[in-house]
Amino acid sequence: MTNYTGSTPSHPRKPDWRDNATCASLDPEIWFPQPGDTAAVHEAKKACFGCPVMTDCARYALQTRQMTGVWGGLSEQQRNTLLKRRTPDPNTLDAVVHQILREEMHPITSLRDLWEDRTYPLPDPGGHIGWRADNESGSFNFQGHRYTPKQVAFLLDRGHKAVGIVRRTPECPVIECVNPRHLADGKERFDRKQAEQRAALAALEAAAAEPVEALAS
Ligand SMILES: [Zn+2]
Repeated sequence: MTNYTGSTPSHPRKPDWRDNATCASLDPEIWFPQPGDTAAVHEAKKACFGCPVMTDCARYALQTRQMTGVWGGLSEQQRNTLLKRRTPDPNTLDAVVHQILREEMHPITSLRDLWEDRTYPLPDPGGHIGWRADNESGSFNFQGHRYTPKQVAFLLDRGHKAVGIVRRTPECPVIECVNPRHLADGKERFDRKQAEQRAALAALEAAAAEPVEALAS
């Protein structure tokens, strides 16, 4: 207290992780969604996932037994499950929190794991890839979204969701093939058709221009 001036301190507490928290600049209400409002919980979590002090916040909530709200990306239910299992060990807590949130934070990574698990090379030459499906249709639920194997192949390869239906390109004759290089979405099919039309038009123009050049030379 060497520089104590006698006035009320401007900070009621020492600076800590809370000063860097994303939620400090957002409406506090969003971290306390109504019970059962999964969409609101998801929205709050999304803000947490980009926060630089997410694990500090999760640790704080677990150690101080916060019963309500989303803290450090963890929902009430997730914290309850964790606390029921055991008293969190501060040394392994970060790893445990990341383990729990891994699929939510990195859906692509986990979809890639699924891809590695489900796909296999088909015997036909040409690099075709097969998919081991659980059911007749082959589509499945993953983190609240429904995917077909072809949509997963497309998403992992292109890094974005498909537009419209993902179909094999005319070059691939294997019906069940999910090799992303043998697939195209609606936008890619459209772009390809446009490119083909432009090429055909350019060829026509070149052919039409030829006799003129011949005369000029
Ligand atoms: Zn193929």
